Amino acid sequence: MDCLFCKIVAGDIPSSKVYEDEYAYAFRDINPQAPVHILIVPKEHIPSVDGINSSNSAVVAKIFEAIPKIAAQEDLGGGYRVISNCGDNACQSVKHLHFHIVGGAQLSEQMA
Ligand code: AMP
Ligand code: ZN
Repeated sequence: MDCLFCKIVAGDIPSSKVYEDEYAYAFRDINPQAPVHILIVPKEHIPSVDGINSSNSAVVAKIFEAIPKIAAQEDLGGGYRVISNCGDNACQSVKHLHFHIVGGAQLSEQMA
């Protein structure tokens, strides 16, 4: 499958890794929108939030267990935002489920 984030998880495309476990892989966004901008993805290919179901939701729970660990590692005690763009209206550009972890500064109140 021609998927950028599957290739990053496999190590075929380089990335700046910040966290990895059996289910998830996290790396720095190549075009950061804030001082800290990390992407966390499931190692298995799930196209988007819309592709989450009862057979794969356990890995999504694992991702959400990993996020606070990454936040602590990155000194995000002041707060951070977790975002997942799903589909065209949300401008999802990579069709492999990912959660943006954004912080390290006061963020805008604007969400859309
Ligand atoms: P989205 O627009 O929500 O699908 O987010 C995709 C994100 O992937 C964007 O923030 C891009 O900057 C980021 N991105 C694209 N290619 C790479 C890459 N090779 N390494 C790290 N981040 C990337
Ligand atoms: Zn993929």
